[in-house]
Amino acid sequence: MKTSRLLSGGLSSAIVSDMSLRHSLLSAAFRARLFPPLRRIWGAQALTVLAYHRVTDPVQAGFDTFAPNVSATPVHFAAQMDFVARHFNVVSLADAQNWLAGQRPLPLHPLLITFDDGYRDNLEHAFPVLQQHGFPAVIFLATNYIGQKKPFFWDLAAYCFYHTQKDTAVLPLAGPQQWADEKTRSRVMYQWLESLKWLPNAAKETAVQQLPDSLDVAIPADAFARLCLSWDQVRRMAAAGITFGAHTQNHPILTRISLEEAEKEIRGSQARIVNETGQPVTAFAYPNGQAADFNPALQEILQRAGFNAAFTLLPGPTRPAEARRTPFALRRILISHRDDLPRFAAKVMGFTRLTGLPG
Ligand SMILES: [Zn+2]
Repeated sequence: MKTSRLLSGGLSSAIVSDMSLRHSLLSAAFRARLFPPLRRIWGAQALTVLAYHRVTDPVQAGFDTFAPNVSATPVHFAAQMDFVARHFNVVSLADAQNWLAGQRPLPLHPLLITFDDGYRDNLEHAFPVLQQHGFPAVIFLATNYIGQKKPFFWDLAAYCFYHTQKDTAVLPLAGPQQWADEKTRSRVMYQWLESLKWLPNAAKETAVQQLPDSLDVAIPADAFARLCLSWDQVRRMAAAGITFGAHTQNHPILTRISLEEAEKEIRGSQARIVNETGQPVTAFAYPNGQAADFNPALQEILQRAGFNAAFTLLPGPTRPAEARRTPFALRRILISHRDDLPRFAAKVMGFTRLTGLPG
């Protein structure tokens, strides 16, 4: 999971008009086919790695989980894969790992498709499209959520804020809060989640457990039963060209826990996937994936555990020399459901990294 930067209320209208100007410019550049030439800056051998989370429709009736974790609607995802098929050569994780090790070259314009967390919509909505194209992909699993009814804390919070009848509440840690409309309620939720992200795990768990009571929401036992993949579904996809990587057991930000706990999270998730699929697990994705969320000590733990590649959410693409220098801090391009095709094209052609625009 990765939440995008939050807009504060006062700034939002100025940013929105700036965003619509940017959107018009991106659309014009897309129609003029300016993006494919732009990627010459990165060279035909640069590695492009896409980072998806969920593929579903966040505005469908009854959608009551955390919308920012949706990377694309099924329709947008299909259009994005068509675009990828026209402009890139999709490679497997093994192809990328062999190339990083200097063993084998990659085709020109190589692109790797990745998903984080292990949501069931990856199977329902993304997998059929990947199969149509014959594209391999990697899914990084937070293993304690696979085959479980337990939600990620951001989905639990979104559920509570969606279903509450209250317009004022005393939130765990944040104290009294109120909201007059849906927009303000969403902002209160995002701010609450953002403050939670930096807490030690135990404090985070306690706060999350208190939230349904504070918002007076009763959660049915099976509310989240279909949110994540089951191990049977993982095995089915593993047999059909999907590789699975580790993303910890419980999805903590690894620099916020002790190294001993981090090692347990890393090795525990790796061992579980090996046991369940019978396949080796040699790639890792850091939860949250920003520069503050990994460090050399964690990279050493990964290396000792037999990993040879680890992925961040720092924006790509990556030239070959940089990728080989930083196999434990590989860049990816974070896709959001707010990306229309021009913005998607701009991102995958390297415009976002070039301009430093927020992903
Ligand atoms: Zn994640």
